[in-house]
Amino acid sequence: MNVRDDVPLAPLTTLELGGNARHLVEAADDAAIAEALRWADARGLPVLILGGGSNVVVADRGWDGLCVRIATRGRRFDDAGGGGAVTLTAAAGEPWDDVVADTVARDLAGLECLSGIPGLVGATPIQNVGAYGQEVADTIRSVTVLERRTGRVLELPPAACSFGYRDSAFKHDPDFFVVLAVTFALRRAGAPTLRYHELAEALAGGAAPTLAGTRAAVLALRRKKSMLIVDGDPNRRSVGSFFTNPVVAAAAAETAAQRAVALGAIRSPDEMPRWPAAGGAVKLSAGWLIERAGVPKGLRRGPVGISTAHALALVHHGGGSTAALLQLAQEVSDAVHARFGMTLVPEPTMIGVPWPPSEN
Ligand SMILES: Cc1cc2nc3c(=O)[nH]c(=O)nc-3n(C[C@H](O)[C@H](O)[C@H](O)COP(=O)(O)OP(=O)(O)OC[C@H]3O[C@@H](n4cnc5c(N)ncnc54)[C@H](O)[C@@H]3O)c2cc1C
Repeated sequence: MNVRDDVPLAPLTTLELGGNARHLVEAADDAAIAEALRWADARGLPVLILGGGSNVVVADRGWDGLCVRIATRGRRFDDAGGGGAVTLTAAAGEPWDDVVADTVARDLAGLECLSGIPGLVGATPIQNVGAYGQEVADTIRSVTVLERRTGRVLELPPAACSFGYRDSAFKHDPDFFVVLAVTFALRRAGAPTLRYHELAEALAGGAAPTLAGTRAAVLALRRKKSMLIVDGDPNRRSVGSFFTNPVVAAAAAETAAQRAVALGAIRSPDEMPRWPAAGGAVKLSAGWLIERAGVPKGLRRGPVGISTAHALALVHHGGGSTAALLQLAQEVSDAVHARFGMTLVPEPTMIGVPWPPSEN
């Protein structure tokens, strides 16, 4: 096992922020992952599992333990079920968007709206990755995990994963399992999912939308919002959305809408974007609340700021620190709380940093 010491984590994250890992191992197969965990356990070291680093905020002081960088590869398609049903099992270290592109090229429906999301397959169940009307929970058939405590490999059905909006059992107990592979249930020659209004509109008016056309439209929408990592884009260093959309009781949503009217942000409460969520709750747009709270796109606070293309993305412009980013995140969160009484919840995993930062 090749254990490297004092390895900078910033270049391994899309924010390009954070300090060094005391030790780092690249694990190219499942046995190497298990060996790395045993190595850390024998030394009493905490373990950080890292995929593509696109949903982590790493402390400036780094990670005082072992970082296991997942580098396992392999995809297996199986159409033995017949009737157009195809399963895909992908190793945790497969780049997510390569996998999506492959399914679309093979005319397999189920993941097309999730095009362009950075990171690796193994992280997708962690926050139930979702965008443009699909989330991985819609297609996940099982998640193969290594149970850290026992070293056993288990195949978990979706019911054992407790998937929710940007949420899962894995997110709540990160030290319990390492995801080794994910199996998706796809449909050959299935129709694309066009649930998301903006995507349906982008594809309206032409011939019947194809999976390839849908992928292209999603990529174009993402590029416009700097939600695709593109060299040279000044908004490229981010974790995508920094906060999740608040899911609140209907009464709290109405209060927020009334406050927006009182602030002069809208004329009538119906103008506030909101969508029905599970259990009679209401989902609000965090980006809308942030802008209406007086935090504009393009705001700069030295080396960090708000994306010029999306109010929900906090960006690092280079030469900054995680402390500066979190200070801005707190400023945004405080502004929304003061105007609308809503508490924003960060979407990325905080590695060695408390949230809210003022509780440090
Ligand atoms: C420009 C941009 C756009 C984005 N758009 C979206 C979007 O539309 N929708 C969305 O949901 N997300 C989006 N994201 C967030 C991010 O890309 C996803 O959450 C992605 O799945 C993270 O993958 P990763 O491999 O980079 O994970 P990492 O950032 O490396 O890890 C994220 C978390 O998962 C854990 N983890 C990673 N791999 C494993 C594993 N194998 N086993 C156990 N735990 C693991 C880590 O410990 C960490 O807690 C975006 C990010 C960026 C930068």
